Amino acid sequence: MFDFFKKRRREGVTREPFPDAWLGYVRGNVSHFAVLSEAERAQLLDDLRIFRAEKSWEGAGGLTLTDEITVTISTLACLLTLGLPERDDYFRGVSTIIVYPAGYRVTETRLANPVGVLETGHSWRLGEAWRGGPVILSWADARAGGRGTAEGSNVVLHEFAHKLDMEDGNAEGTPVLYSDAQYDEWHRVMSRAYDRLRGRLWWKYRGMDGDLVLDPYGATDAAEFFAVATEAFFERPRALRRRWRDLYAVLKDYYRQDPAARVIGYLRRMHHSERPHWFGE
Ligand SMILES: [Zn+2]
Repeated sequence: MFDFFKKRRREGVTREPFPDAWLGYVRGNVSHFAVLSEAERAQLLDDLRIFRAEKSWEGAGGLTLTDEITVTISTLACLLTLGLPERDDYFRGVSTIIVYPAGYRVTETRLANPVGVLETGHSWRLGEAWRGGPVILSWADARAGGRGTAEGSNVVLHEFAHKLDMEDGNAEGTPVLYSDAQYDEWHRVMSRAYDRLRGRLWWKYRGMDGDLVLDPYGATDAAEFFAVATEAFFERPRALRRRWRDLYAVLKDYYRQDPAARVIGYLRRMHHSERPHWFGE
C-alpha cells in the first residue's frame, strides 16, 4: 500500500512541466548538467523533483531557503545516483537537509592526547553527513562546487557520497556493491590508491609534487578518501582518469557513469559551435 501511494505521489510531482526558473538554476549551478545526454537530463530533472519533494529542508544561521538552493542541492545529490540500480531510493536514509549561508563554526570535543584528555575547540565546516541523521551544507560552497569554481571540490557530492558509504551501516569507504568480485577489486584498488595519496602528500608538503587531482583531505581515512575521490570523479574526471586510472575505473563501475567520456564528447560537439563550459581540465 505504501509503495502504491508513494508511486502515485511521485508521478504527481513529475507530471507538471519542469519550471523554467528551476531549469535556469540547474543549468547555471550544476556545470555537469551540460555534458549529460538528453535521456540523462530528463531522468535527472524527474529525480531532483522527487528528491526535493521528499526531503525536509531547514535554513540555519539566518539563511532563508529559496528554490535555487533546494533545486541546486537536489540536482547534485541525484547526479550521484543517476546510474545506480537503487536510484529510486532517493537517499532513503536522509530525511533532513540543513543549509547554512556559508561555512559554519562548530564546537567539537576530541581526544587531545594519549592519556585521554578531552579537548574542546572550534572549527569551520563546509558540510557534514550524520549517520542516520541530516546532511548539513554551506550554500556558498555548494554553489561554488556545482558551478565548477571550487578547484574540483564539491561539498554536496562529498557529503552525499558519505551517505552512500553509510548505506551498509558503516562509514568505511565502501558503498553497497554488486558482487564479491567487485568488492575484491574495490578493496584492492582503493587501498592502493589511498596509500599512494598518502605517499604523494609526503612529497607535496616538501614542495616536490604538483597537482594530485585528489584533495589531500582524502588522506584522512578510507571514508574521506571515497568522498574526495567522488568529488574528483565528477568535477575533474579527465584528470582523475589520466592520473588515477584504476581508481577512476572502480568508481565508474560503481556509479555506472563515465563523466570523462561525457566531457570529451561534449567538448567535441562544442568545438565548432558555442564557447564551451570550462571543466577544470
Ligand atoms: Zn567528509
